[in-house]
Amino acid sequence: MDTRSVITRLELPLAVVILAAGLSAQHGWAIAGAAVVLAAGVRLAVGATRLGNRALALSPAVVHGTLTGAAATVILDQLHSLLGLPTVIQLWPTPHVGFRHTLVVGAVAVLAGLFGGLRGLRLIDVAHLRSLWRHHEIVTYLATAAGVVVGGLVTGVALGLLSAVCVAVYRLTHCTVLVEPCPDTGWRVTVRGTLVFLGVGRLLRELRNVPPGAAVTLELHVDLLDHAAFEALRRWRTEHEAGGGRVAVEEVHDSWYQRAGARHPRLRKTLPTGSGRLFAPWGAWQQCAPSAVGARDPIAAGVREFERRGAALVRPYLEDLAGVQRPGQFFITCADSRLVPNVITASGPGDLFCVRNVGNLVPRNGFDPSIGAAVEFAVGLLGVSTIVVCGHSDCGAMKATLSGKRIEGQLGSWLRHVEPSVRLFRETRAWPESASTKGHEWLGRMNVIQQLTHLRTYPAVAEAVAAGRLRLLGLYFDIGAARVWRVDPDTGELVDLERHVRAA
Ligand SMILES: [Zn+2]
Repeated sequence: MDTRSVITRLELPLAVVILAAGLSAQHGWAIAGAAVVLAAGVRLAVGATRLGNRALALSPAVVHGTLTGAAATVILDQLHSLLGLPTVIQLWPTPHVGFRHTLVVGAVAVLAGLFGGLRGLRLIDVAHLRSLWRHHEIVTYLATAAGVVVGGLVTGVALGLLSAVCVAVYRLTHCTVLVEPCPDTGWRVTVRGTLVFLGVGRLLRELRNVPPGAAVTLELHVDLLDHAAFEALRRWRTEHEAGGGRVAVEEVHDSWYQRAGARHPRLRKTLPTGSGRLFAPWGAWQQCAPSAVGARDPIAAGVREFERRGAALVRPYLEDLAGVQRPGQFFITCADSRLVPNVITASGPGDLFCVRNVGNLVPRNGFDPSIGAAVEFAVGLLGVSTIVVCGHSDCGAMKATLSGKRIEGQLGSWLRHVEPSVRLFRETRAWPESASTKGHEWLGRMNVIQQLTHLRTYPAVAEAVAAGRLRLLGLYFDIGAARVWRVDPDTGELVDLERHVRAA
């Protein structure tokens, strides 16, 4: 019997089994029937265990191409039988048994297949075709389908897999090379992506655009640099420098070039986090970035870095915010350089209305016009839904206050606003959690609680809280652990913020 007539009515796992049974089926009805029953069993097992979804991980283009190829085969097969066409082009063996026999076996198999299996798979599905087109996998799909029609299931799947592997290799090893003159540093060559031997030819062609003798910054944003690519770059660098040029290598993502030079190349790709310099302090990258070395002013180097890499990322958001701000949160925190509100809250432009001062202090209503103005603006005009007071570990203001040393000038005057917190600190020193906490750290927590109390002295805040429009939240940032906690206002304990949010 011709098993391909049967498999076209079925989905992939069943089709595979029937094909495997094809040779046996030539020996009689009993074996063909057994193959169909077995196929139905596999189909049910696939449906029950959801293994079918894993089959899609193979490549949707190959799976759908196989089904389409099978459908095309049966149509051609039946047309061939019905019309009694001469076997000018015989793509598959002539059936040993009749058309009727094929239909019966097919019907039994289809009924079996209806009980479970790969969900959502059809022999030809326009929606899937569109999806494959969008994902640039239509070539793999067509190669698979054509392979099934011409050479059978195994040939089709093999062709499809080969095509899928080729597409994947192209995608995974693709890189872009940009060569451009740079006003400050001569020329800049920017390489992004995965740099392996397949891309070396194009890289070298692009590098020919760099004039001999020029100063070049080679900027690498690569997640993998293989041996061939490293050698090509090193040779080009040596030749360029021998011709009087200068080459500075700046590795923005990871250190592939440096490691290869030190004979410690990595084995696998390193995933780009996209955050390196956004979170790192200047000292971590300005020392080794040729574009920043020599820039005496770290602010200028930082601004240049932002304009080159950060501005394009944030501009789409800022464009929307250019005429209006709608922050939902008023964030009051210490001026300490180690506490960066947008970093610890993973927020961006437009999210936080901020006030920062020494000690994250909120003097009572009427004592400080700066804070008073910010509170009125945030609550009255912006209508924020949360006011956060965020203290932090190792706070200089808390340590200075507890040290008992006399502090002159305006700093001394300002820190007098910590006195209510010190009183609370003394009152709560007997709380269980305080025993295991350093003095200034405990004061830091009490200081957060005290500022929340002070916030309620502002009429706008008291009114909004009473109306349920505003909540007050005390946070504490542990610098060394990079961890944000909520300060429990009743116990001073540091508790998980998620728990609080879920409970609220
Ligand atoms: Zn501080």
